[in-house]
Amino acid sequence: MVCSQRVSVVKKYNIRHHGETHHAEKYRGLYGQPRREKVKELIAGLKKQQSVFTSRPDISAADVKASYLIANDIALASKPYCECEIVKTCILKAAEIVCSES
Ligand SMILES: [Zn+2]
Repeated sequence: MVCSQRVSVVKKYNIRHHGETHHAEKYRGLYGQPRREKVKELIAGLKKQQSVFTSRPDISAADVKASYLIANDIALASKPYCECEIVKTCILKAAEIVCSES
């Protein structure tokens, strides 16, 4: 699909009908190489949108270590996040670990 609109039933006829009624004017003049380039551009746009849901940020060992140490500190302190001092201590500890290993 060239747009984000969904058709009720994904069948060849429905998709063709949607394209002919909604997008025919826009892409009618495209033939040959310009048409192939437009298709590549649309596919690239779609893949970029999908990558938002599939790509994960790289998680380093330092991040994991900091996460576990902070979880340990919070559990030992038995205090909620709204306690200012525990948050400050955790952030300082995380910064120390992450910054020293990267
Ligand atoms: Zn459409």
